[in-house]
Amino acid sequence: MSRKHNGKKQVYRTIAHHRIHYLFTLAEAYGLEGKLYLSDRYVALARKISMKYLVPIPVEYTRRFCKHCYCYHVPSLTSRVRIHRGMIISYCTRCKKYSRIPLHGHSSSIRQS
Ligand SMILES: [Zn+2]
Repeated sequence: MSRKHNGKKQVYRTIAHHRIHYLFTLAEAYGLEGKLYLSDRYVALARKISMKYLVPIPVEYTRRFCKHCYCYHVPSLTSRVRIHRGMIISYCTRCKKYSRIPLHGHSSSIRQS
């Protein structure tokens, strides 16, 4: 019984993963159109799915919304992105808070070569 249940759970998680991808694709499309209220809604939905099915939101997507107020970031419109001392610093124009992401994770392979 438990094995059957686990198999089903895996299917749900795969669907959840696809839905998160799809929601962020929509959020990006509407964000670029200026319909930010829709983008924010899609971010909220993606987060709900992520929490319900314990599917982490991919890193490339977590950087596209504010960690504090979860609004979708459209560079120059709702966020300002700067690079300072090896950190990507994004400023949210809505809640006026900063998020810092280290650059090292990506550049480590480049520095070694
Ligand atoms: Zn914010």
